[in-house]
Amino acid sequence: MRLKYYFASDNTAGIIPEAWDALADANQGFAAAYGEDEWTAKASDMVREVFETDCDVYFVFTGTAANSLSLAGICRPQHKIICHRQSHIATAECGGPGFFSGGTGMEVLDGDAGKIQPDDINRVLQQPFDFHYQIHKAVSITQSTEMGTVYTVGEINAIGKLADENDLHFHMDGARFANAVAALGVTPKEITWQAGVDVLSFGATKLALPVGEVIVFFDKSLSEEFGHRCKQAGHVASKMRFVAAPWIGLLENDAWLKHARHANRCAALLATGLEQFAGAELLAPVESNAVFVNLPEAVHRSMRERGWMYHIVSGATGARLMCSWDTTGEHIEQFIADLESAFSD
Ligand SMILES: *Cc1c(COP(=O)(O)O)cnc(C)c1O
Repeated sequence: MRLKYYFASDNTAGIIPEAWDALADANQGFAAAYGEDEWTAKASDMVREVFETDCDVYFVFTGTAANSLSLAGICRPQHKIICHRQSHIATAECGGPGFFSGGTGMEVLDGDAGKIQPDDINRVLQQPFDFHYQIHKAVSITQSTEMGTVYTVGEINAIGKLADENDLHFHMDGARFANAVAALGVTPKEITWQAGVDVLSFGATKLALPVGEVIVFFDKSLSEEFGHRCKQAGHVASKMRFVAAPWIGLLENDAWLKHARHANRCAALLATGLEQFAGAELLAPVESNAVFVNLPEAVHRSMRERGWMYHIVSGATGARLMCSWDTTGEHIEQFIADLESAFSD
């Protein structure tokens, strides 16, 4: 039986054709190494155009590196980062931010639907503390969140204001930034620097690319010496043009938003399909390309026997189903049809 990875994650999908073509275009003879090439320059300029501001742009291999290095760039060992308990930086990066910063800690907050709330940030900031404790130095949110929800413009502005008033740097984990921009129908600047975000991990591997994420410093005073940090961590590609070129294909003609809209639409369709089952309970509002759904254990077993691969992420029965640029209506119909059989087994 062929295993079906259509909804296991958005990183089980392949590479968008636009990025593949851009990669081939960059494969012409010789070019300067370590990011001194024309493709890296062009891709960096395109990132600046997307955000409509003059920002510092760095290419690294993974999202974990983008988060860990950017957070290490803005925090010292005596600092800590405020973030959601379920945030990727706190749960799935093997302590990378702490490691690369030499000891920065995390203050994890609970919050519905994967979001942290200004009141809770305020609460921890108000707690009396002395030299026994690390100093709150940064706040990090994930957009779209680990629960597939999306912070609104107002919510980001509220956190940005709080960060500003309390001398916190504001970091955004944008592993699925495109899905959030597409969902909100806003310009990228509205949910980043205009709302107070200082540094963004701008991911596109999950969305569309083979490898390669971008770190965007909107506050350029925070990126001093940052290139050295990337090199030290082994994240400066010598043939950088092949990391950067796919970004040209991705950003040209807003291909990134087209593909993100598609993935989001697929998730909405999938959620609609699930609603017909009394035994299926959605665990979070479907706002981007993720669907979280509770299904009976026997149904999961039966789906697994039918070849469906996906992750149980919440308790024993809460599944995460991710849609991607390559998800089709047929994948969704197949899944729903098999679910129907699984429920009647
Ligand atoms: C996948 C992901 C990352 C980056 O992970 P890598 O596997 O290191 O590329 C970062 N944040 C979130 C929310 C993610 O889902």
